Formats: sequence, C-alpha cells, structure tokens
Amino acid sequence: MNTTTDDKTIVKDYFNATGFDRWRRIYGDGEVNKVQKNIRLGHQQTIDTVIDWLETDGNLADLSICDAGCGVGSLSIPLAKSGAKIFASDISEKMVQEATERAKSTLENVDNVTFSVQDLEGLTGKYHTVICLDVLIHYPQEDAAKMITHLASLAESRLILSFAPKTLCLTLLKKIGEFFPGPSKTTRAYQHKEKDIIAILESNGFKIKREGMTSTNFYYSRILEAVKE
Ligand code: SAH
Repeated sequence: MNTTTDDKTIVKDYFNATGFDRWRRIYGDGEVNKVQKNIRLGHQQTIDTVIDWLETDGNLADLSICDAGCGVGSLSIPLAKSGAKIFASDISEKMVQEATERAKSTLENVDNVTFSVQDLEGLTGKYHTVICLDVLIHYPQEDAAKMITHLASLAESRLILSFAPKTLCLTLLKKIGEFFPGPSKTTRAYQHKEKDIIAILESNGFKIKREGMTSTNFYYSRILEAVKE
C-alpha cells in the first residue's frame, strides 16, 4: 500500500468511528468542552468567511458547487439554502449520513443538495466552484498536492481551499503539544506551507483572488480562493 492509501484508510476509519463522534459534536450546537468550543467557533468563522465571499459576488443561486469532504454539511446546507446547486461528498459514510439528516431537518427544500460517499480523488464532473475546507490537514504535502490537482481539474472557474498553515509559531505550538490534540483524540495533523499550496494552484492555471485567516487558540485555518486565469 502506498502512503496515500494508508493515510486515507486511517482517516476514513477515524471519521467513521471516534472521529465521527468528536467532530459531530464540535460541528453541532450541544455542550462541548472549552477546547472543542474554541475549535467550533474557529471553524464557524472559516465557514462564514467562505459564505461571505460567495454572497458578496451576488450570483450564488446560479452556481454549481462541489463541496469535497463535506463533513456534517456545515457549509453545504447554508449554501443550498441560498439556491446554489450543491454536490457534497465525503469519504466517511457516517459523516454523509449525518449531513443528510441535518439537511432534511433544516432545509425546506432538499432538492438543491445531493450527498454521496466518495473519496475526493474519485470525484468526476465539472463544477463552477470547488470547495475543500479543513480536509488537507489530514494529508502530507505530497498527497495534498495530488488532491489539489485533482480538485483543480473539476473546477471550471474557482477553487476554495483551507489548510493549517505551517508557520514557525504554529510549529512550536505543535511541538509543545498545545495546538493539535494527541493521537488518542485525532489522526495526525499535517501543516502546509502557503507558498507550496499557491505553487500547486498556479501550476494548475489558477491565481489567488481572496484570502482569509481564522485563528483562535486551538484552531488555525488559512483560506484561499483561487480563480482560473
Ligand atoms: N469540510 C467540512 C468537514 C471538515 S472535517 C467542514 O469544514 O465542515 C474533514 C472531513 O474530510 C471529514 O468529514 C473526513 O471524512 C473528510 N475527508 C478526509 N479525507 C477525505 C478524502 N480523501 N475524500 C473525501 N473526504 C475526506
């Protein structure tokens, strides 16, 4: 087995078991501990940044959007509400099940969103916009590069990604164990250098249009919007 397959199997198993329980709670609105609450707030800010960008453009209802690694639907569900056509998928069937249930209980009309269980590298088709939030953190640079290239091939005009930035400060925090939770709680977290991510986007014919950064005490996410040149 190559490393991508290995990492994928580990990530998939995690998000179908302990990871599912942990993240379903973090991405929900029930009681959580302080650290989880901090991550919840940070993640919501990332979602809000992306929704704000899309709404500002004023054409959301005309777009087809692929949400790769959709989790419990934190982004897909509000986007479907605004009339966009959403193709949401995730490697974890438990996540997809949860997202489907949340969509049914919160959306008046579920026709705008379809959910499927799929590895993002197996996705096909063309979408105006492809979005992949907080997924790359689970993969080392080489695998992340392949994933970005694949996602770029599905995007007609725009790709929005988020990742944990590899900066000196975060590297130190990770070393002393304050940032990423230990192995019992999660899978390995990989940070990525922004310049590496931008280089891959550029080599696929995209250029950066907007950028955002969410940082709370326990959650760090760099958000890039890249558009086709
Ligand atoms: N994008 C969502 C969920 C982030 S959690 C959000 O921001 O709310 C990370 C998700 O990525 C998990 O649901 C996990 O199952 C999914 N994932 C990890 N590797 C994947 C892959 N190779 N293909 C598709 N989904 C993947």
